[in-house]
Amino acid sequence: MITTIDTFKNEPNTDFSKRDNVEALKSAIAAFKQELGLQYPIIIGGKKIMTDRKITSVNPAKKTEVVGYMSMADDQKASEAIAAATEAFESWKKVAPRERANYLFRAAQVMRERRHELSAVMILEAGKNYEEADAEVSEAIDFLEYYGRSMIKLEEDSHHLIQIPDEKNRLTYIPLGVGFIVPPWNFPLAICVGLTVSAIVTGNTTLLKPASLTPIIAYKFVEIMEAVGLPEGVINFIPGNSSVIGDLITGHPLTRFISFTGSKEVGLHINELAAKTAEGQKWIKRVNAEMGGKDGIVVDETADLDAAAKSIVSSAFSFQGQKCSAGSRAIIVEDVYDELIGKVVELTKQLEVGNGEDDFPVGPVIDEKAYQTIVNYIEIGKKEAKLVIGGDSGSEEGYFINPTIFIDADPNSRIMQEEIFGPVLAISKAKDYEEAIEIYNNTDYGLTGAFFSSVPHRIDYAVETMHCGNLYVNRNCTGALVGVHPFGGFNFSGTDSKSGSYDYLKLFSQAKLHTIKG
Ligand code: NDP
Repeated sequence: MITTIDTFKNEPNTDFSKRDNVEALKSAIAAFKQELGLQYPIIIGGKKIMTDRKITSVNPAKKTEVVGYMSMADDQKASEAIAAATEAFESWKKVAPRERANYLFRAAQVMRERRHELSAVMILEAGKNYEEADAEVSEAIDFLEYYGRSMIKLEEDSHHLIQIPDEKNRLTYIPLGVGFIVPPWNFPLAICVGLTVSAIVTGNTTLLKPASLTPIIAYKFVEIMEAVGLPEGVINFIPGNSSVIGDLITGHPLTRFISFTGSKEVGLHINELAAKTAEGQKWIKRVNAEMGGKDGIVVDETADLDAAAKSIVSSAFSFQGQKCSAGSRAIIVEDVYDELIGKVVELTKQLEVGNGEDDFPVGPVIDEKAYQTIVNYIEIGKKEAKLVIGGDSGSEEGYFINPTIFIDADPNSRIMQEEIFGPVLAISKAKDYEEAIEIYNNTDYGLTGAFFSSVPHRIDYAVETMHCGNLYVNRNCTGALVGVHPFGGFNFSGTDSKSGSYDYLKLFSQAKLHTIKG
């Protein structure tokens, strides 16, 4: 197998225009339905433990359908997991980088073989439709293949130092220690895989605490790592009450780093807690925190308006706007404001809302709490701006909200400033492209953005001035590909760690120089 980084290719998604593929996914959904309501264990040092207290994972498209019951780690179990990870680190750090990478390559192969099963779990547990779930499996496979190759390159690069007479100099990247891995529910497979395998391939051991809303898909990933023979204790799987075990692990003296993706509030809390030195601690903890966004699409009067309309709608409403990269704002110059809004509203009217199992373009939001938050924001929006479509809920069987658009929003209004994380788009008018970019930059976040124009010098201006980690010109602001679009944001969008890049692995390593004289 050729495993150099330049041989990496993004995993192709399934072609659902082919009937056989649709049937294969439907069969996988039917098969997973036979497993609904199963109980799942936590895993510490390779031991599977069923606990009395369980998280109930529910299908957001069908509130009465339990996907599974996940055991929960308490303080005691969290402490045991830290001990298991600390012990496993002593042997795992000595495993050769290529060998560590091979576990990832084998896991990628298993994921290819089980891709429809994994999609089925996400369709039922997270409310994804076919395309969203399938693309997420591809992204998870990409992380495995790309980080495996990146580790091999990182090891090779360690040889490249300038040599001087009478000395041999070498820089190697060694692991940090025990990492606390905290993914969100919205990419419950891809981000969970990315955060975990970047840490282990660099030689660290981990405590993986999945999001409480999506623990079953995280379990399936851990099961795959077990199936490919990953040594016990390298991934300790500990779902649990985040405010209890989360703080215990972040504050623990043996925790060396925290890899977090989630909201701004939780990210800042973890960062603050990790900065305090605990009794017996010997290092400054590293925190990689990728957080929220208030991403936007800017359109000028020279843009291809049909293309811009398609991108605005897809960036705002794919996966119900529950992406950190979701284009929840559009800023349009006045010359084409009414015309473009007309196109955006027409496209939005075509979006049917329903269960991801039946492959509707827009599905449910994740749970009751999210539903209430979004409904509240819609009420705020009705006071702040003009509602042109949506603003109401869909079937009560699940947490359905119809795609909602507000226009004439003041750039400083709450719907233009705060992350809603649902199918709500706010649109503001600007007099020209420069003012539009100013409005775009007027947020505390800085994750993704898009600029639509056909004028080269304006594109140059946008590239220079739009302050975000991922800027896309004349395309969606969602849909970053591993290795192609390294991902991470500025300001309160996080530490800009750029997942899906070669540099990313250095965040989980420390560089050691050794010089041998003579
Ligand atoms: P949350 O911040 O609520 O939760 C994220 C994770 O943190 C969950 O696993 C959660 O566990 C855990 N957590 C909560 N409190 C603590 C704590 N005190 N200590 C340790 N862990 C804790 O975010 P969501 O899951 O709701 O995800 C949505 C957010 O994620 C949005 O803001 C979105 O923009 C952002 N996001 C950012 C991305 C990026 O790359 N920048 C990518 C994807 C999402 P539990 O579920 O048990 O509460």
